[in-house]
Amino acid sequence: MQPRDLSAYDVYQAGRGNEEVARELGMDPEDLIALSSNENPLGASPKAVAAVREAADSINTYPKASHADLIEKLAARWDVAPVQVWLAPGGDGAIDYLHRALLAPGDRVLVPDPGFSYYAMSARYHHGTARAYRIRKAEDFAQTAGAVLDAYDGERIVYLTSPHSPLGTEISAGGVAEIADGTDEETLVVVDEAYGEFTDAPSKAELVRERDDVAVLRTFSKAYGLAGLRLGYLLAPGAWADAYARVNTPFGVNKLACRAGLAALDDDDHVERSVEAVRWAREYMYANLDARTWESAGNFVLADVGEGVEGDEPRRRSTTDEAASSPASAVADACQREGVIVRDCTSFGLPGCIRITCGTREETERAVEVVNRVA
Ligand SMILES: *Cc1c(COP(=O)(O)O)cnc(C)c1O
Repeated sequence: MQPRDLSAYDVYQAGRGNEEVARELGMDPEDLIALSSNENPLGASPKAVAAVREAADSINTYPKASHADLIEKLAARWDVAPVQVWLAPGGDGAIDYLHRALLAPGDRVLVPDPGFSYYAMSARYHHGTARAYRIRKAEDFAQTAGAVLDAYDGERIVYLTSPHSPLGTEISAGGVAEIADGTDEETLVVVDEAYGEFTDAPSKAELVRERDDVAVLRTFSKAYGLAGLRLGYLLAPGAWADAYARVNTPFGVNKLACRAGLAALDDDDHVERSVEAVRWAREYMYANLDARTWESAGNFVLADVGEGVEGDEPRRRSTTDEAASSPASAVADACQREGVIVRDCTSFGLPGCIRITCGTREETERAVEVVNRVA
């Protein structure tokens, strides 16, 4: 017997990790620098690590109090009601919960291209479909309300990623409001702020407080360094009452994640250090990479290693052959042989670009040296 027809579903292509690559190449993971998944090179907050150790003795019971406590703490931090905080296993999990709550079979979502593939994947899992709006290289990947509204055709959800991965560009609060004003009453605008800590721009959470058609997505995976625990949340419109309680998976966020999140929120120093390190690494990459770069508001830099490659074609589902033959994958493979793992952006529809996560000083310097040498 077989599962139902899954041929329309894509497989998520994550950045590759050092252990995975080390096994494949027969190398020591210690000799590899993974700058492919926008993880925090400084690690997790030491307070969060201590909280996980301490909570280890109580993992035989369900996360009840810790889940409620973390929701309370996040609600206070963002000045919203606790029911507006949709705690989830990663930002990805929050996207799933949102689709469970909003999408009826056949409903559509509008997503950025290039962009984060999971928006569309999750919509399909929830029996919806996705359409894309383009963000163009020829326009330096600027994100404008006009481009989104031109593509908009009554979708139930419009996704904006700000700062955007892998592009690094942002959309203003005014732009988000313009999109929310220009779309139907039953359309929700979601601003994915997975990289929100790394920009100087204020969070669009302000719009969640002011209106009923904007939501904001945040995660502990990036600045907080808790990617391995899977913890994220949505700040949802206040009028949705108990929708979260009706759609969430019982105890979907584990106790270690909840305890780590609580501790991490009390460690502003660690976030500040992480953001400082990112600021330094971005500037270092702009100044020292031979390849063209774009200014980034995230913890990564996009670099054009395929000069002459258009890289502005609407995204198609790339086959393995295509990926193997793109300039970006050739450069990413060559970097990997030199011990530096970067993100090949072919699967984002940018066959000429790689994305390099901001590492420690030493890691970033080595990555720049290697990319310059092989590209
Ligand atoms: C990393 C990321 C997320 C969320 O990741 P989780 O680890 O699931 O919290 C969401 N959107 C974008 C664009 C990301 O890069």
